[in-house]
Amino acid sequence: MTNSKMICEMTEIMARFISMTSKRLPDDVLKRLIELRELEDQKMAKEMYCSMFENLEKAIEMDRPICQDTGLINFFLNVGSKYPYQYQLKQVLREAVKKATTEAPLRSNAISIFDEENSGDNTGERTPFLHWDIKDESDEVEIQLYMTGGGSSMPGRATTLMPSEGYEGVVNFVYDTIVEKGINACPPLLVGVGIAGSMENAALLSKKAILRPLGSKNQNQKAAEMEKAMEEGINYIGFGPQGLSGKTSVMGVHLETAARHPATISVAVSVGCWVHRKGVIRFKKDGSYEILSHKGGL
Ligand code: SF4
Repeated sequence: MTNSKMICEMTEIMARFISMTSKRLPDDVLKRLIELRELEDQKMAKEMYCSMFENLEKAIEMDRPICQDTGLINFFLNVGSKYPYQYQLKQVLREAVKKATTEAPLRSNAISIFDEENSGDNTGERTPFLHWDIKDESDEVEIQLYMTGGGSSMPGRATTLMPSEGYEGVVNFVYDTIVEKGINACPPLLVGVGIAGSMENAALLSKKAILRPLGSKNQNQKAAEMEKAMEEGINYIGFGPQGLSGKTSVMGVHLETAARHPATISVAVSVGCWVHRKGVIRFKKDGSYEILSHKGGL
């Protein structure tokens, strides 16, 4: 296959992958929603889950996005140092977003800052947003896609605490954020918490945290304990599905960390809604691909 044919095919596959992610939840999110539905015994909560699952079925049946807000598109790339098409990836993803916007179709959500103009195709300044990591010695690329809606972005918050506030300060910040704004994000939520030495690192880690597979734990035992404690604490609020009360508020709480400066503890919260649209696809250098997030593929 020539290089240009390979790039064209990859653009086509990515457009279909974006479209599919808007219409089908990933396997881990679906499994967790089924588990949470089983826990509910109140009439309202049960009815809300019924309507949410009906929504999911209709999206597939009618070939339409699950939610009208298909969000802004973020990509997290893990690029092999020997992957031959590194320089083409940015263009591939930008074109794929434009194509998916027309074909899925996706709502046009990219508004220019100050001029306030909607591009109409979900691309714009630094949009789709790309975050790059390099994987040594690999000749593959793994692309993680996240569609971030307005409601689920609304509770996002970051701050830098005095070290004397300690990890209690971190937990208070998370609880305050979720109590104040979590209900805007169509619960049950996935809460991502980042802790680091500066605000921007904590914010990025909090976003990475909500992209971790549901059911996974932080490898550090103390961090894993904090995830569990915060999950129990936030569940105690009793948002229930769509915030209309119920036994649980969250699908999970995920915590990601980086070493901090002795004089600071920065903490950030990112939130995913019940329509947590994320996907992972891996391309080999010969153009073949594997979808890791959704059984059955495209
Ligand atoms: S928070 Fe999620 S489910 Fe609710 S409107 Fe936004 S994208 Fe849709």
